[in-house]
Amino acid sequence: MKGLTKDLAAKLDEHDPLQSFKTEFYLPKNTYYMDGNSLGLLSKRAEQALLTSLQDWKQLGINGWTDGKEPWFYMSEKLGAMTAPLLGAKSEEVINTGSITTNIHQLLATFYQPSGKKTKILADELNFPSDIYALKSQLELHGYDPEEHLVQVESLDGRTLSEDTIINAMTEEVALILLPSVLYRSGQLLDMPAITKAAHERGIMVGFDLAHSIGALPHQLHDWGIDFAVWCTYKYLNSGPGGVGGLFVHEKHLGRKPGLAGWFSSNKNKQFDMDHSLTQAESAGAFQIGTPHILSSAPLIGSLEMFQEAGIERIREKSLQQTRYLIHFVKEELSEFGFTIANPEDDNRRGGHVSLIHEEAASICKALKAQQIIPDFRAPNVIRLAPIALYTSYSDLYQVMMILKEIVQSGEYKQFKNERDTIA
Ligand SMILES: *Cc1c(COP(=O)(O)O)cnc(C)c1O
Repeated sequence: MKGLTKDLAAKLDEHDPLQSFKTEFYLPKNTYYMDGNSLGLLSKRAEQALLTSLQDWKQLGINGWTDGKEPWFYMSEKLGAMTAPLLGAKSEEVINTGSITTNIHQLLATFYQPSGKKTKILADELNFPSDIYALKSQLELHGYDPEEHLVQVESLDGRTLSEDTIINAMTEEVALILLPSVLYRSGQLLDMPAITKAAHERGIMVGFDLAHSIGALPHQLHDWGIDFAVWCTYKYLNSGPGGVGGLFVHEKHLGRKPGLAGWFSSNKNKQFDMDHSLTQAESAGAFQIGTPHILSSAPLIGSLEMFQEAGIERIREKSLQQTRYLIHFVKEELSEFGFTIANPEDDNRRGGHVSLIHEEAASICKALKAQQIIPDFRAPNVIRLAPIALYTSYSDLYQVMMILKEIVQSGEYKQFKNERDTIA
């Protein structure tokens, strides 16, 4: 099939129900941005939302907490309610606070309660390092040796995990499981409901890191009965560098004492009583600690409005069609150039990015950058390409793939060293 033409891409764009959102983003000039899964782009609405909070500060000073156009005191809760539909969660189950790593610490401090035989934590060997560091330090705080008490499920192919292997590792010694929803390298989407069901049948708490699924695909966290979840908002949710993170605690656990308490864990009506005994919020808000980082929360308000309008189902539909397009292109046009598709090809098993393995991935990424394409390199040999439903067009994808083809066909990438830079 030689059907992947410029015309086809233009036609797909014409029929794209989300195409109008692209004009709302600041797209780096003359650049094809394929790294929205690491840092999403700025939208005009996110910018405006940040300016609103700055304006409130400028005009109201401390009164911005309660009287601002977007009162700071309630912003984390408002963001939680706006995020809930992306998660299939109730508003009170979601709060925006902290970062992935600090939220893992908070929720482990709350939910990891080893007792009797059940002392181990189950994770996987492919997860992002920060998650693993946090799990190890939580084990150490309880006086356990991570070598023995952190069980990391092995990958058979070095890229993906099998749910059966995960379930087999759920021994009676396991107290808690933390896994990614979508693996950050290969883009594999795990079967969260099946894992949760198996864990609960064995009396194990289960949490997920949604860094690579939130904003890319729908979830049903409440109905699946997942105990807790964490995510960041600077990837698919486009909140900006260092944007506030988020956490979910299932309704059945609301009211549980936060492992790490602070005055923002308070019931909001009591917080300013300044009492030394905490009356905690009855919502997920109880898992906040200190004063929210307003200026890195505000942009998310504008960004989430766009998700509300676009609808996560439509975003997922386009995202799948776009990753499918890239996979087809690699197979049809690039098969002779040494690429392996590392992500699962089944729609139900794939997150929002395409993961290509190539011996000379680092050189190829540098050659792409020299041609104004921003890919994402993960050492030693992975090129991640993320089409973003709200701002990537099919014509963009066509151009990116044609340039990639040119780079490998001409051998142009060979002039670049096959090593990573400091930030990959
Ligand atoms: C991006 C990412 C992180 C980053 O954690 P922060 O605390 O937000 O810096 C952690 N885990 C995973 C799986 C990620 O993809």
